[in-house]
Amino acid sequence: MADSPGGVYTKKVMNRFSNPKFAGEIKNADGVGQVGNMKCGDVMRVYIKVEKNRIKDIKFKTFGCVAAIASSDAMCEMAKGKTIAEAMKITDKQIAEFVGGLPCIKHHCSVLGSEALRKAIENYKKKAK
Ligand SMILES: [Zn+2]
Repeated sequence: MADSPGGVYTKKVMNRFSNPKFAGEIKNADGVGQVGNMKCGDVMRVYIKVEKNRIKDIKFKTFGCVAAIASSDAMCEMAKGKTIAEAMKITDKQIAEFVGGLPCIKHHCSVLGSEALRKAIENYKKKAK
C-alpha cells in the first residue's frame, strides 16, 4: 500500500517536511538536476557529489508542497551511499513507500524526486566526459 488512508499525510511525511535532513545546497557539486511539475508548481533541484562511482553526498532544494519536500528528503536518504547505477533505479513508488505512503493526488510529487536524481546523474556523466 503506497497510499495513506483518507488522503492525509502520514507522520513520517510530516516529520520529514518539518525536519528535512538533506535540505541545502552543495557547492561545486558534480551533478545538478532540476525538475518541476505544473500540478502544484513544485520545483526541485538536486545536488550530488560523486566519488568512485558512488553518491557520496546529496542535497536538495525544493520549493513545493509537503509531499514534494518530504519525498525529496526521502530520495536523498535512499540515494546516499549508493552507486550511480543503483541510484538510477530508485523509483517514485519506492520513495512513496519510504515515507509510509502519500495521498493518491500527491503521487506526481514523489515522481519529482526520482526524476531530479536521474537528471543530476546525467549531468554528472556529461561533466565527467
Ligand atoms: Zn506537489
